[in-house]
Amino acid sequence: MMIIMKSNATPQQVEAVIASVKSEGLNVHLSQGVEATIIGAIGETHNIPPDRFEGLEGVDMVQRITQPYKLASRQFHPENTILGIDGFTVGGDEIAVIAGPCSVESRSQIIETALAVKEAGASALRGGVFKPRTSPYAFQGLGEEGLELLAEAREKTGLPIVVEIMSQVQLDVMVKYVDVLQVGARNMQNFNLLRAIGESRTAVLLKRGLSATIEELLMSAEYILAGGNQRVMLCERGIRTFETSTRNTTDINAIPVLKNLTHLPVILDPSHSTGHADYVSAVARAAVAAGADGLIVEVHPDPAKAVSDGKQSLKPEKFAQMVNQVGQIAQIMGRRLAVSSAYQPAKQGWA
Ligand code: PEP
Ligand code: MN
Repeated sequence: MMIIMKSNATPQQVEAVIASVKSEGLNVHLSQGVEATIIGAIGETHNIPPDRFEGLEGVDMVQRITQPYKLASRQFHPENTILGIDGFTVGGDEIAVIAGPCSVESRSQIIETALAVKEAGASALRGGVFKPRTSPYAFQGLGEEGLELLAEAREKTGLPIVVEIMSQVQLDVMVKYVDVLQVGARNMQNFNLLRAIGESRTAVLLKRGLSATIEELLMSAEYILAGGNQRVMLCERGIRTFETSTRNTTDINAIPVLKNLTHLPVILDPSHSTGHADYVSAVARAAVAAGADGLIVEVHPDPAKAVSDGKQSLKPEKFAQMVNQVGQIAQIMGRRLAVSSAYQPAKQGWA
C-alpha cells in the first residue's frame, strides 16, 4: 500500500503516519522523491482498508500497489533509481560498460585485461572467482586469491570491480573486496542468498534466470530491496528458447518492459545472451538503442586460451570498437558513456 503525502505535509505528520503503519504490524519504506513523499506500507495489507490511513493529517491519497513486487515497482517509486558506484552512475544519463574476463585466471591475465578495457572506455571491471560451472570437473575459479588480483587491478586502473557471489557463505569475504555483487542466472531464485545480500549495503547486479519470467526477476529483486539494500540493478542475459544457433535468446523486449515496470537500472549482457563473440557488438548496440542503462561484456586478451567462455569473449580491439559504436548510439539516445576520470575520450573519437 502506498500512502502519498500532500506536498506541504510536515515532518511531524510524516512521522505520525509512519507510526500508525508500524502499529498495524507493517514495514515502512519511505521514498522522498522530488514530486512527493510516499510511505510504502509493506506486508499483509489485504485486510487493512485504505481509509485506515486516508484520514490522517497530511495524507493526500492511499493506493494499493497492484503488482506482486512492491518496492521494485515504478508505481511505488516513479523516478528512476540512479546507483552511484565508485566513479560512475547507472540508471541516469550515463551508460555503464562493465567488462572483463569470464574468470580471473592469473595476475597477468586480469591486469592486462583491466588496462585494456579501461583504455577502451569501460566504467568497471568484471571477473569471476567463484564460477557456477555445469561440470564439477571444470575450472571452479581462484576464490579469494582471485579477489586479491581483482583488487590489484582496481588499484592500477581505478575501475570498480563486479564479481559473482554463489553462496551466502562467501558474503563476508566478497564485501571486503568488491564494489558490486553479481548474482548469476543460476542463483536468481536462491532466496537465502538474496536475503543475505539484502542485509548488506553493497551494490548488486541481479541477473535474470535461464528460464525466469520478468515478473520472477522482479520478485527476486524484491527480496533484496525488502532486506533494506536499495542498490540493485537488473540484468537481461538471454533466456532459454528452442533456438540453438545462439547460446541463449536475447530478450530485447525485457529492456523496455522492465523500464516500464520498475525504477531499477536495467543492463544487458550480450556475451551470455549470444554465446558468440561475432554477435556481441550487434546485440550491445541494440540494447543501448532499446534503452538499456548499461552493458556487461566478456573480454579476454587471448579468447582461444580462456578457461571459460572463450567463444563469447571479445578481444580488446573488438571491445574498443564496440565501445565506440555504443557511445555513438548513446548520443542519439541523449545519453553518454560513463567514463572513469583517468580516461581520455579524444583518443577514441566519440567525445
Ligand atoms: C558470468 O557472468 O560469467 C555468468 C556465469 O553469467 P550467467 O549467470 O548470466 O550465466
Ligand atoms: Mn561467463
